[in-house]
Amino acid sequence: MKRIAIVGGGISGLATAHYLRQGLQAASRSAELVLFEARGSPGGTMRTSREQGFTMEWGPNGFLTNKPHSLELARQLGLSDRLLRSADLARKRFVFSQGRMHRLAETPGAFLQSSLLSVMGRLRVLAEPFIAPPLSGEDESVADFARRRLGSQAMEKLIEPMTAGVFAGNPDELSLASCFPRIHELETRYGGLIKAMLRLRWERRRDRDQAGMSAGPGGVMTSFDTGVQALVEVLAGKFSKELQLASEVETVGYRGGKFQLAVKTGGARSECEADAVVVAAPAYAAGALLCGLDGALSADLERIPYAPVAVAALGYEAGALAWPLDGFGFLVPRLEGRRILGALWDSSVFPARAPQGQALIRVMVGGARQPELARLPEDELLALVRGEILGLMGVSAQPVLAKVFYHKRGIPQYLKGHGRLLERVSTCLASWPRLHLNSNAYRGVSLNDCVLQSRLCAERVLRDLEIQ
Ligand SMILES: Cc1cc2nc3c(=O)[nH]c(=O)nc-3n(C[C@H](O)[C@H](O)[C@H](O)COP(=O)(O)OP(=O)(O)OC[C@H]3O[C@@H](n4cnc5c(N)ncnc54)[C@H](O)[C@@H]3O)c2cc1C
Repeated sequence: MKRIAIVGGGISGLATAHYLRQGLQAASRSAELVLFEARGSPGGTMRTSREQGFTMEWGPNGFLTNKPHSLELARQLGLSDRLLRSADLARKRFVFSQGRMHRLAETPGAFLQSSLLSVMGRLRVLAEPFIAPPLSGEDESVADFARRRLGSQAMEKLIEPMTAGVFAGNPDELSLASCFPRIHELETRYGGLIKAMLRLRWERRRDRDQAGMSAGPGGVMTSFDTGVQALVEVLAGKFSKELQLASEVETVGYRGGKFQLAVKTGGARSECEADAVVVAAPAYAAGALLCGLDGALSADLERIPYAPVAVAALGYEAGALAWPLDGFGFLVPRLEGRRILGALWDSSVFPARAPQGQALIRVMVGGARQPELARLPEDELLALVRGEILGLMGVSAQPVLAKVFYHKRGIPQYLKGHGRLLERVSTCLASWPRLHLNSNAYRGVSLNDCVLQSRLCAERVLRDLEIQ
């Protein structure tokens, strides 16, 4: 029987295993699956801690339903009745600018009235349909794209904080086409963002009218009753026999038509032979373990940098907060010169995240903007965060709970040239049929992207093994 080894038990590795099993069952074929996870528990960045009645996420607080992938996976796993939809007020998002919070506009009318951008800044955004697409096919940075199409103010106050919110990244360095492929596509296809918005809105109305029903799920932030860890726990539970925890794959070699994995479990070392390998570990880890197999591939993988992020979770008595926490949270533009990237008002998004009468805030620190802050010791980091929360939200109360979750290499950065790097990686992989890479380092960092890429990866693995 063929053996497929998966390295890494985060959502990418676990979802790949799920889709592999599904594909094998659909083809009435069998193959042995084996999953190696270096840590003592599965899930990677998807981790939930519970203390004093608070439910705190280390990383993601959920997924958006504007893409169907995570929702479909949850339903396939029988998790429909554990899905938790965010409160309606989570649609309200804020940007802190010039001493106060500005609500992000959801409609063109609200945008025209919003004071986040000056009148000139708003007029510049309205001129967007008249900006010609670029002549060269150069890989443009997020910042260059935003300045060109929307103007400097929109870049500094909207796009820069949004990029920090998703990638914890620097828009001057990140590639628009790799980080936000949909936006890149809208410009290429429709000639501009406002033109695309109008056209898509018209198409949606037409389709809805024709179908006589709603256009399907909107972009609602969704999680699970006990936090995002529920998803990876249920997935891991389905692979209790195949999943080997505390088992780090040190190297992947190739001998006699098979891959040879050197695995370290505690102090013990063993070898695992496999017909196909999916490396679902972060790019730097993939680079390290593939370096003996393919030096060029390994070097390119190690070129993908990661931004460090620290997440400070603060629990308060709700009555002690000067702020109503009536929304999703806020982002802070770089030009404000503050020392946090933004904060999520978790117990407003999902009320069950804090006990009755209490509130939970999670504050993001570091990123590519201030990487050194994400490495501060816990007491210094908490002092910094409390100072910023006082300055930005006027909250001086003593938290009833304070925790910091560190992500030393938190979010991969798709720098300008990322697309070309992926092409070189594909060229290298062509010499290694049945070796596959799948993680958030390549084609999207959201949970939806990871789940979609896992399904596509499983299809490639089965095709290469001539199982599909
Ligand atoms: C602070 C933060 C907030 C986020 N918020 C959101 C959000 O709200 N919504 C959203 O959609 N996304 C969010 N994300 C992104 C999302 O969480 C990640 O992109 C996703 O969880 C990555 O999953 P992965 O499996 O690709 O990688 P990981 O979760 O990094 O998993 C990789 C696994 O591989 C293991 N591993 C590494 N090396 C080896 C080895 N040699 N042998 C065996 N195992 C190995 C690791 O231990 C790890 O468990 C957030 C990320 C962060 C950091």
